[in-house]
Amino acid sequence: MATRTSVIGFPRIGKNRELKFASEKYFKAEISAAELEKTAAELRAYGWKKQSDAGITFIPSNDFSFYDNVLDTAFLLGAVPARYKALGLSPLETYFAAAHGYQGSAGDVKALPMKKWFNTNYHYIVPELSDNIKLSVADQNKAVTEFNEAKTLGIKTVPTVIGAYTFLHLATYTGQKKAGDFATELVNAYVQLAMSLSTAGAEWISIAEPALVFDVSAEEKALFASIYKDLISKLHKEANIKIILQTYFGDIRDVYNEVCELGFDAIGLDFVEGKKTLELVESGFPKDTFLIAGIVNGKNIWRADYQKKNELLVKLAVKVEEQNIVIGTSCSLLHVPYTTTSEEKLSSDILAHFAYAEEKIVELKEIASGDEKALEANKKLFASERVAKDAAVQKALAEISESDFVRKPDFAEREKIQHKTFKLPLFPTTTIGSFPQTSEVRANRAAYKKGTISREQYVEFNQKKIAECIKLQEELGLDVLVHGEFERNDMVEYFGSQLNGYLFTQNAWVQSYGTRCVKPPVVWGDVSRNNPMTVEWSVFAQSQTKKIMKGMLTGPVTILNWSFPREDISLKEQTQQIALAIREEVLDLEKNGIKIIQIDEAALREKLPLRRSDWHTEYLDWAIPAFRLVHSKVLPQTQIHTHMCYSEFNDIIRDIDAMDADVITFEASRADLKILDALKEANFRTEVGPGVYDIHSARVPSVEEITDALKKMLDKVQKEKLWVNPDCGLKTRGNEETIASLKNLVAAAKELRANV
Ligand code: GLN
Ligand code: ZN
Repeated sequence: MATRTSVIGFPRIGKNRELKFASEKYFKAEISAAELEKTAAELRAYGWKKQSDAGITFIPSNDFSFYDNVLDTAFLLGAVPARYKALGLSPLETYFAAAHGYQGSAGDVKALPMKKWFNTNYHYIVPELSDNIKLSVADQNKAVTEFNEAKTLGIKTVPTVIGAYTFLHLATYTGQKKAGDFATELVNAYVQLAMSLSTAGAEWISIAEPALVFDVSAEEKALFASIYKDLISKLHKEANIKIILQTYFGDIRDVYNEVCELGFDAIGLDFVEGKKTLELVESGFPKDTFLIAGIVNGKNIWRADYQKKNELLVKLAVKVEEQNIVIGTSCSLLHVPYTTTSEEKLSSDILAHFAYAEEKIVELKEIASGDEKALEANKKLFASERVAKDAAVQKALAEISESDFVRKPDFAEREKIQHKTFKLPLFPTTTIGSFPQTSEVRANRAAYKKGTISREQYVEFNQKKIAECIKLQEELGLDVLVHGEFERNDMVEYFGSQLNGYLFTQNAWVQSYGTRCVKPPVVWGDVSRNNPMTVEWSVFAQSQTKKIMKGMLTGPVTILNWSFPREDISLKEQTQQIALAIREEVLDLEKNGIKIIQIDEAALREKLPLRRSDWHTEYLDWAIPAFRLVHSKVLPQTQIHTHMCYSEFNDIIRDIDAMDADVITFEASRADLKILDALKEANFRTEVGPGVYDIHSARVPSVEEITDALKKMLDKVQKEKLWVNPDCGLKTRGNEETIASLKNLVAAAKELRANV
């Protein structure tokens, strides 16, 4: 019987987002560093106590972070770029300077870049390694402090830290030195760290190496092996500490044999996302080593099916001594909310199916102990069908045929028809959808939600804003207009809240980056559309202008990727259901006179599998067709736009073209326009609007700057295919800078028209 349990990481933002609010106050100098530290200590204590009360064996420490664990690791190892140290600020202020930039009396430095953490919606800070950085760990460090803090509370923890291989994998290198050149120094730094922990009384250290779930090249494998050969023996001999190698977000097929041979004391593997993990373990597992079996999903909010988990454990016990099997989470619980007890509005029938972090640690314990009563209750929960199938949705799905994925006539034919119909000038100008969401816009929505104003009042206000927004766009001389999205708080929630099959939580906040949290909606049942969701607004907007008004929708892949998906049916099926619902909206918009419809796929790239070999079979092969399903039935003269909030699609460029949209706008202003070469090389046929300025900053781009960017684009893109637009929606910007920027954008387009 497996009796031990392990958690990789616990949420830290606070059950009521205490850390978010305290940090924001601290940034505004409304509270002191000591007060912020106090909140942090309370949150850490809360998590440890919950885990200790649940009887978890391996409780992590150092999983707490004021901003991000990768940034913590950089600071722990001494990998702090000189420009931050040069500010001469306190350690905490220096840390925040690197996390989100600093502008003040001590100087002016930008933040380190931020990137998506594997296939999650969490973002990490990218470490920067220059040639003259000296890696080393102080005796008194964050890991030791937090270990001691837990010890004082009577809780023995396992300090956890991002491993050397993953750290080197994620870092950027500014000089001549490459990953391998830092290996020796880094090994010594980890030894210093382990010694400090061992001195403080730690028996174990957990080293997280999620980068092992990517495709690992021969060279990378050699680097990994050389680091750990050295490190493991030193940790055992010099630091006298036991080592967990913790992996997550997939299987480690490329290095499994090496991992087994290196001599770790425990190996943590992901059985939820790791398709091959079971197969790997069945091929053999080292003796006298703990297997931390990550079987409780750390990423989704559904209860675990104990029977299925037990069946898996039986299989594992063939190769692993039973007493060495530890029941664990598949990844850090950072990616799920705190507790379902904070949900007051959902019925207990529904909540019975949910397990957030605090419920998940109880699940670990119940599975490990083989608790009969718990098993019975769990069996009952899974015995009945959670939701009845929606017959109409099932019928619609069954009726989809090949032709539903093919828009006719083909692209070239449509392009001709559309150019004739719209008679737009060369380099048509447009925006991505939203206009500044001023506080009055937000107040109007909030008042309507609270019920303090009537629907008429709410609509009237928004219509006034739409009319103003249109007038502004006409004055600016934009060619294709938008209504401004004043009725939307969020591009997914707006649709989710109107679709059947979706549930909204009250408190299911998950950290996205720093103090920013998101509250993904839950796909509960089959998804369908009851009523038009956007038609009223778009029709009103079109009635206010002779110019063309773009309808504005969110695409099915993005809606699903930013939700907690179901686990009882495939992602493909869920996406198709959403696609059919959005398709109804598309056709309704068209029927009501909307001639251009934009379907945003802001998050398409997000769930691209971590292994290249899985990209198509596991994802693109259904995600791209799902987008086509949405628009395949429109008339040839209806123009379909899509938008993506990034430009890293060089490697999936043909798939993007295969979405068969007529126009795509995307972020390009911050990238070095490399994407343009890729477009040219791929013979990209979709018309393109690479964003000509960065809406993430308050800066107003000059006409010259925009013209320059456009000229560069024209080297690579046919002039008939180039659109001119900002790189994303304007909702986070102020009116003044928006107007100034758009004025320059239109002027630049006009100048270019006059000169080609
Ligand atoms: N249409 C949306 C907007 O303009 C797109 C947002 C996004 O790409 N994230 O706000
Ligand atoms: Zn965007």
